[in-house]
Amino acid sequence: MSDEHSLSRRRLLKQGAAAAGAVAAGTKVAAYEESAAAQAPAISTARLFKAWISRGTGRNRTTLQDVRLRPISGRQVVVRTEATNLCYSNSALVLGLTDPPAAGGAAAANSLAAGTADMALIQGHGGVGIVEAVGPEVRRVQVGDRVCVSGTPQCGSCYHCLRGRADVCQLLGRNLPADFVPIAETRDGTPVYANSHIGGLAELMVTFEEWVVPIVSKAPAVDLGMVLACVSVAGLGATTSGTLARLQPGSTVAVVGCGPLGLSAVQGARIGGASTVIAIDPVRMRRDVALKVGATHVLDPNAERNIIEKVRSLSAGPTSRTWSGGRDSGGRRSGAGADLVVEAVGMELAVPKVERGPDPSAILPVQQAYEMASSGGDVITTGLIRGTIALPAFLFAIGGISHHGGQAGGTNPMRDIPRYVELLHSGRYDTKTMVTRAVPLKDMLGAYEEVIYRQAVTVIMTA
Ligand SMILES: [Zn+2]
Ligand SMILES: [Zn+2]
Repeated sequence: MSDEHSLSRRRLLKQGAAAAGAVAAGTKVAAYEESAAAQAPAISTARLFKAWISRGTGRNRTTLQDVRLRPISGRQVVVRTEATNLCYSNSALVLGLTDPPAAGGAAAANSLAAGTADMALIQGHGGVGIVEAVGPEVRRVQVGDRVCVSGTPQCGSCYHCLRGRADVCQLLGRNLPADFVPIAETRDGTPVYANSHIGGLAELMVTFEEWVVPIVSKAPAVDLGMVLACVSVAGLGATTSGTLARLQPGSTVAVVGCGPLGLSAVQGARIGGASTVIAIDPVRMRRDVALKVGATHVLDPNAERNIIEKVRSLSAGPTSRTWSGGRDSGGRRSGAGADLVVEAVGMELAVPKVERGPDPSAILPVQQAYEMASSGGDVITTGLIRGTIALPAFLFAIGGISHHGGQAGGTNPMRDIPRYVELLHSGRYDTKTMVTRAVPLKDMLGAYEEVIYRQAVTVIMTA
């Protein structure tokens, strides 16, 4: 290697370094970084915020506290909460009617909250709000964006996301105590964690970018909080996303269970052009709401002697005769039964102060949901239940029924959540009838009682 060569190489490197330095100082690269790569640096604001902290056991395990935000980094996103729904699935843990089981053992296997009794945890699993800060690796949103913090994450690169099942993204199950990172601390320095990497029952949600969906909307926070509530997303997902089953215009839909999830499925069935929407719930007030938001028929499971036959008779339609003009041979037949059944009951977490359903475990309604589907029909189950389901074996093959399970009714968050916002904008999703009341952060705990005792359809907390 000649001296000249090495000198020239050295010169070249030197020139290159100088050139790079010059460009970095100039406007060209700076502009590029601003437009494509720049994000706010990791922040350490030591910001104080109010949060409902659940810890320990018993009725008083959830208290409103001032906590201090910890520095964020990487893919973390801080969202100022505008609205969140008080989800029934969280209610017993928030109100302390159920204590989180210890880690390990049979009870733990049935609980997402196992091992969390001693953790200072912000309950909730989603909401809408404004991005306040982002970690340096965040690309999906920027400070100031309005977002839905989705109960269902979407990484966009795992096997499930790539095959169109973002509802079961690899990150969904990363929700055990060992997976949590502290996002804040209490006055005495106790680390504070966010349930499901989200929280919601606080002025801030600290999450990761995979849980955040940017939305473009000027709609009031309560309306957005309603249509993008975990339960509404699941009901709309089951009926409009097409991920699990496709609702065809003119078809017959039965919705078993009319909490906010089932009522959103009723709305989705109406939006999707179903000709008959049969809503089933023991609570009269909920059946009344179902009629207002799109049900063509409502049934009380406590009053029906045979609810499966009743649904079949309501959905028999023009194909109920074996031959045109001939006599019906009876029995189970094509067209008798709903083309799509959405089950949205879920097990009872407390004895309701309104009409009680026929089976607190909600196993029975799942069995009935399956049997009220038409041959060739689809059943989507969304309710959280525990136990074993027994079904007539002959239906499993020649019954021709397809069962689909999924998180969030198969919602693919980045694709579908903006669509749900448009359903709100166009007036096709009715939020006014769905929100029993909206409460400020400080009144959360009292309002949650109306949720667990099923006196409210939906309560939205604003912060
Ligand atoms: Zn929920
Ligand atoms: Zn994924």
